[in-house]
Amino acid sequence: MKLTAESHSIPLRDGNSIPLIGLGTYGDPCTTPKGTTYESVKMAIGTGYRHIDGALIYFNEHEVGQAIREKIADGTVKREDIFYCGKLWNTFHPPELVRPALEKTLKMLQLDYVDLYIVEMPTAFKPGDTFYPKDEDGKCIYHETDLCATWEVECHPYFTQKKLLEYCRQKDIVVVGYSPLGTSRDASWVNLKCPPLLEDELLVSIAKKYNKTTAQVTLRFNMQRGVVVIPKCFTPDHIKENFAIFDFSLSEAEMEAIGNLNKDIRFVELLMWADHPEYPFHDEY
Ligand code: NDP
Repeated sequence: MKLTAESHSIPLRDGNSIPLIGLGTYGDPCTTPKGTTYESVKMAIGTGYRHIDGALIYFNEHEVGQAIREKIADGTVKREDIFYCGKLWNTFHPPELVRPALEKTLKMLQLDYVDLYIVEMPTAFKPGDTFYPKDEDGKCIYHETDLCATWEVECHPYFTQKKLLEYCRQKDIVVVGYSPLGTSRDASWVNLKCPPLLEDELLVSIAKKYNKTTAQVTLRFNMQRGVVVIPKCFTPDHIKENFAIFDFSLSEAEMEAIGNLNKDIRFVELLMWADHPEYPFHDEY
């Protein structure tokens, strides 16, 4: 499949398709100025992005929705051109709360539908509108849940997920890789034992060869093996840079060399919830 800026979607079994690159929209709500998400999503759609990854728990879904609606209103896109992924937060896992939670998201977005709605994490918390419920000792209150699957996986050259990808390929499942650039390295929730991905020597040398950046090489690596990437970028130059990955391709040897960078180390470990019975990262996959 030849990937271009206009045509880079993977068909799904239900007849829909998912663009291989999307804009991630999680920014720390305490430090991200109001309006940043709105401006970034508008700019991304203007640049050519057609896939936006968001969530109720990011506390900026209203800005995402406003940006999408304005780009529809000004004629840049139609609603059906956009692929929006929303997420069910941990306090809404009981089946009767799923629909109301989705309706909250639609109300925030002021859109009629989302294209994908995934379980954000398998770790259920005490149900309700308190998103981080805590007991008197300040410990998060967990909740038992009957959850069978969660679909998104961290994926980048330091965590290549070879076994999981092979399994998904056999079952015809498309994988979306979050934190594809190795995260924002926010010490409050990111494992910083692993060195910064974008400073990796091999990635730097391959980037130099193609006159690209390490971020572009990193995204192209995943995209070229059929993994959807959703880099978060609110810096205007990053938004453009991360979409400029359709005019070069990595050789087989380069793909293999980048694949060999795998360290099996997660940047997103969420160890504060490691004692939750559904903590997902004890398993090999
Ligand atoms: P990423 O790997 O996307 O890294 C984001 C960081 O990289 C930001 O600091 C950003 O800065 C910077 N960056 C972006 N582009 C470039 C570039 N070209 N060169 C250098 N730096 C760059 O991390 P995230 O953890 O944010 O993951 C991406 C998205 O995945 C999230 O925003 C969210 O939508 C989703 N996600 C979903 C999860 C789940 O569902 N369970 C879990 C984690 C993430 P700047 O903003 O200044 O451009």
